[in-house]
Amino acid sequence: MRKESLELLRGLLNAPTPSGYEAPGQRIWCEYVRQFADEVRTDAYGNAVAILNPKGSPKIMIEAHADEIGLMVRYIDDKGFIYCQKIGGIDPAVIRGKRVNIHTAKGVVRGVIGATPIHLQDKAAEQKAPKLHESYIDIGSKDGEAAKKKVAVGDPITFVDEFEMLSDHVATARGFDDRAGAFAVAEALRLVSQGKCHAALYVCTSVQEEVGLMGAQMNVFNIQPDAAIAVDTTIATDTPGIDIKQHGDVKIGKGPTLTIGRENHPVLQERLKKVSREEKIDVQYETFSTTGGTDALAIYTKHGGIPTCLISIPSRYVHTTVETVDLDDLTAAAKLIAAFVLSLRKGDTFAVKV
Ligand SMILES: [Zn+2]
Repeated sequence: MRKESLELLRGLLNAPTPSGYEAPGQRIWCEYVRQFADEVRTDAYGNAVAILNPKGSPKIMIEAHADEIGLMVRYIDDKGFIYCQKIGGIDPAVIRGKRVNIHTAKGVVRGVIGATPIHLQDKAAEQKAPKLHESYIDIGSKDGEAAKKKVAVGDPITFVDEFEMLSDHVATARGFDDRAGAFAVAEALRLVSQGKCHAALYVCTSVQEEVGLMGAQMNVFNIQPDAAIAVDTTIATDTPGIDIKQHGDVKIGKGPTLTIGRENHPVLQERLKKVSREEKIDVQYETFSTTGGTDALAIYTKHGGIPTCLISIPSRYVHTTVETVDLDDLTAAAKLIAAFVLSLRKGDTFAVKV
C-alpha cells in the first residue's frame, strides 16, 4: 500500500468518531479527497461529499459511514464512578478492563472500565457477562464532585485501541467498521481521478450509521443518484466457534464481498460481477442480513427506488475493539469500485426488465 494511503487509513482509525461526533475523522477524509475531487461539500450534520465530474452521466453515489460505535456518559455517582449508555451496538461482554477516552469540552479525559477481580467473584455462581449498566468507568477522581469537574453527562467516549499491523497485510484497530469503507471509497475516488470518468461521481462518508442508518438518508436526499454503492465491513466467519452452515463462508484476505438479495439490485450487481471478472479482482458472495442492515438498506428505497449494491470488507471480531481485516481486501474493494465507475457510459441504466 502506498505510504500516503496507509497514513490516511491510520489517521481515520485513530481519530475519535463515535456516531454524532464524526467531525475529527471527516476533516481527515475531506483533506485527503480534496486533491482528487472537483468539489468537497459538508452539510449540517457533518456528512461529507467529494464530487468528481459533476456534469457527467449517470450520477453515481459511492458511500461509506464515517462513525464508529462508542459510549456516552449517562450518570456520575458520588464516588466519581461513571456509568454509560451505548452509542451503537457495543457488546458489554468485551469492554471490561479496557482503557477509554472521554471527549469532554476541555479535552480528553482518560479512564478505565473497571472489573471486579476474579479472586472476589463467586466461583459457585454461573459466570455471566455484565450488563452495560453494571460496568463503570474510573477516571481516578477522589469523589463525584471532582469527577463532575472533569466530565459531564453526554460526553462521548471511545476505546483507546489504535491501528496496528499484526502481520504484513493483516491489521487490527477499533472501528475498522467503517473506516475500512471510508478509506476504500476515498481510494476509489483517487483511482477514478487518474482515468477518464464519464459518470458524475459523488463519493461520500455518512454520519450516524451505527444508530439507525441516518446520515446516508441525508446524503441520498441531497445527491439523488441514478445508482449507489455502499461500502461497509462484514462479519468474517473464518474464526473458531462460528458455524459457516448457519452464517455463510466469508474469509479475510479473499477479497471484498458482494451481498445478494433484498437491497442489492440484480442488474447493478451483474455489472459489478462482470467488472470483477474482467479486472481479475477476487470477490466473495454472501446473502443479505436477516438481522440488520447497512446504509444500502437506507438508500435503496429513496426517490422511488435507487439501484443500490453493498460491497463489504470482511472483518473479524466486528464491534469489538480489535476488529481485524486484511488490507489487501481494502485495496481490492477500491479497485473494483473504481473499475466499475470507469466502465460507465452516458445513458447506462440499471432498471430490472419486466
Ligand atoms: Zn458498519
